[in-house]
Amino acid sequence: MNQRAPKDIHQERLKMHNANVANRVQYFDTQTGFFYEKLLEKRACPVCKEDKEQFLFFKDGGRHVKCLECEMIYLNPVFKDENLEKHYRNNHDLQSEIVASDSEFYTNLYQKGLDSIQKATTVGNILDIGCSAGTFLDLAKKANWSTFGVELNEQEASYATAKGHSVYNKFLSEVAFDVKMDAICLWDVFEHLKDGEAYLNEMKPLLSKNGVIFIQIPSADSLAAKILQEKCNMFDGIEHVNLYSFKAVEKLAKKCGFVVEGYETVISEIGVINNYLNYEDPYFGETSNTKTLFNSLDEEWLHKKKMGYKMQLALRRS
Ligand SMILES: [Zn+2]
Repeated sequence: MNQRAPKDIHQERLKMHNANVANRVQYFDTQTGFFYEKLLEKRACPVCKEDKEQFLFFKDGGRHVKCLECEMIYLNPVFKDENLEKHYRNNHDLQSEIVASDSEFYTNLYQKGLDSIQKATTVGNILDIGCSAGTFLDLAKKANWSTFGVELNEQEASYATAKGHSVYNKFLSEVAFDVKMDAICLWDVFEHLKDGEAYLNEMKPLLSKNGVIFIQIPSADSLAAKILQEKCNMFDGIEHVNLYSFKAVEKLAKKCGFVVEGYETVISEIGVINNYLNYEDPYFGETSNTKTLFNSLDEEWLHKKKMGYKMQLALRRS
């Protein structure tokens, strides 16, 4: 396998992150060192609606808290909807460039997700929300799915359309599909949505009888997040508004009338953890050991314990 070194991938992400951070300067009140209060709003736990939070840390301007009731980690306060939307519109999105420059890393993740989807439902119509340039849909099309996408970036949407996918350059709520979906996918999207409950409820009527919702999100249970804490890339201050533990996502699913049918973790981040444990920069350190922790715990062990960096979940209507 000709896979690129994780460090190269992190380098690409850092480029995006730095552009993002430069763009954020406008949000900071230099008097207080925090985001301008007018941009923000307070909220209760987005999963259980309780207001019992434990302060965790500030990261890139964002105040991260943990719900003492359901273990959900979330930004509080959080950007108001209109300001979050403005932020995304003004922030050049390099995601599809990253996917294109490291297709093998993503293809492996996408394939694993598609395998889980096909275990949970039959091949039919598949909708990818935030489909970007359609890399995942390409894979699904090859496996005989009829492919649909929703993508707000006009350029990426037209690129995906040109590859033969039915892509809407609109919000999900503005699209009227004339078929039911056997699978709806959200790859690295759900953590960006402030109201996951409303979104699950919005997707529910779009599903066929045996349809599933497939979600890939960063895992608050991951060993990397638990060891690195605020140094972990998962915590970004503005965009990752909700970081779910399994307990939290299961609770949310149940509340919306879904059961978790498949649950796997992906991406071990063992190399990142080893760098950190060696007093190096977690993402740019020189540790060569990316396969085992303490020379004994390997990736298989980590994923068996569901402590990988991201969760892949399949939700079915209960
Ligand atoms: Zn909660």
